[in-house]
Amino acid sequence: PVEVLGHRIQQFATTRPDHPALISEQGTTNWQALLDQVNQIANRLREAGLETGDSVAALSENSADYVTLYLGVLTAGGCMVPLSGMASAESLSLMLSDCGARFLFVSQKNRELLQGFRDQLKELPDDHIVALDKNGEGIGQALSNWVRNASTEAQPVEVTLDDAFNIIYSSGTTGTPKGILHDYRFRQRQMVRMSRFGLDGDAINLVSTPLYSNTTLVSVLPTLFHGGTLVIMGKFDTRRFLELAEKHRVTHAMLVPVQYQRILADDKFDQFDLTSFKLKLCTSAPLRPDVIADAMARWPGNIREVYGLTEGGISTSLDCAAHPDKWSSVGKPTEGAEVRVIDEDGRELPAGETGELVGRAISMMRGYVNRPEQTREMLWESPEGDIFYRSGDMGRIDEDGFVFILDRRKDMIISGGFNIYAVDLEKVLLAHPAVEDTAVIGIPSEHWGETPLGLVVLKPGQEESPSAILDWANAQLGKSQRLSVIELRDELPRSTIGKILKRELRTPYWEAAG
Ligand code: ATP
Repeated sequence: PVEVLGHRIQQFATTRPDHPALISEQGTTNWQALLDQVNQIANRLREAGLETGDSVAALSENSADYVTLYLGVLTAGGCMVPLSGMASAESLSLMLSDCGARFLFVSQKNRELLQGFRDQLKELPDDHIVALDKNGEGIGQALSNWVRNASTEAQPVEVTLDDAFNIIYSSGTTGTPKGILHDYRFRQRQMVRMSRFGLDGDAINLVSTPLYSNTTLVSVLPTLFHGGTLVIMGKFDTRRFLELAEKHRVTHAMLVPVQYQRILADDKFDQFDLTSFKLKLCTSAPLRPDVIADAMARWPGNIREVYGLTEGGISTSLDCAAHPDKWSSVGKPTEGAEVRVIDEDGRELPAGETGELVGRAISMMRGYVNRPEQTREMLWESPEGDIFYRSGDMGRIDEDGFVFILDRRKDMIISGGFNIYAVDLEKVLLAHPAVEDTAVIGIPSEHWGETPLGLVVLKPGQEESPSAILDWANAQLGKSQRLSVIELRDELPRSTIGKILKRELRTPYWEAAG
């Protein structure tokens, strides 16, 4: 048996009953109140037939109740399956049957989405669909009603390191969503390790990315495990983020790159007292060196960039204060982790050469749910017989051991036999004084197979022409890298965790070419 979050909450309810555990628009929940609510949910789930390892899904925006539910499911021995409200009804119904969800918790905001797939979930009785808000209309009973008669007595179920903790469905930016299964071993190690970033009992962690994403859980779970405080934002808003950070003397936040840009661009940024910040974490997409420079100059506290996959296996991090000369890298492998580079035939490449990044780390997923073949395809065996995970990212490792990401393998542009990495071209475009944001994608070319196209968002008030930007950029690029076209856009589509949706951008060009 392992020490589960349920045991920890019990401990904090005794040692720091009045310390705030969750702060949200709904108010503040201290550790004692949290324990009672968690126990009620856990006891109710067990009474309703939940068995250890059973899946419990949630479809909701961030809220304190969502976090409480998460902890209740774990305390009952269940496996949490957090789902994205951005997914279609069709894929949600596929995910729910793929993981065999026994219960589903839905917020009012997702009521219509639920109605789009409710009929497909024949095995799920009506009373196993519960509303996460006070109002259960159109969903089922409201959570507070559903747990009303359940005991608050602690009865955490014993689990082992091999038991399921959660399943997270990949966002599908590169294909059909796959259920990534994490066990207790994976999360336990992560929860303990993150205390080295100060995510401990003194942490006040402002949560503004969605709880269904692994990016968020990486900082949320350790904060809870160590008895800290979570300040939970329902929906991200720059000004609200700054207000909450100042008001609650926030020490930590895990943010995706585009959030840094937006927060720093807020015209009132410099008026907020952010001196309580110790560390900001950043993951999920490249964090631009100019943005790091701006944040390091104006936003107190250090920045730690983290590179990893939901699957685990790859883990690097960059201490931005310690390595100002390496801001375009994602740092070095974390303790116990290793990263190597391989070519298309799976042969290892020496330092400095570009290929696919593979890694192994202390935390690796159990596998993709119901997809043994795809789980196997992800693995690479080193000449010494060690198992590594293939990242699907193209990159290189420099002579000092720092890892650089160039592109996702599926986004790489192959033009006339040359590999072109979008990041090289994007870096040039971003250096243009009129360019605010950019994405380079491969579009069809009769002559070259593929050719790079630059999509550009101009800074407010700028009127530079696409052809002037094209000439300016191409003058600095090698002959085989040159952009063929620049198109202007008002904004670029991003996933809820800030990744530019390149597949979505590419599709119309390839469809038009047949
Ligand atoms: P899908 O596999 O469906 O595309 P996803 O994008 O949600 O889903 P994640 O596991 O969330 O998958 O993301 C992992 C990927 O995010 C990495 O392979 C890498 O491309 C990118 N990434 C993560 N951290 C960083 C970082 N610090 N810098 C640059 N890219 C990053």
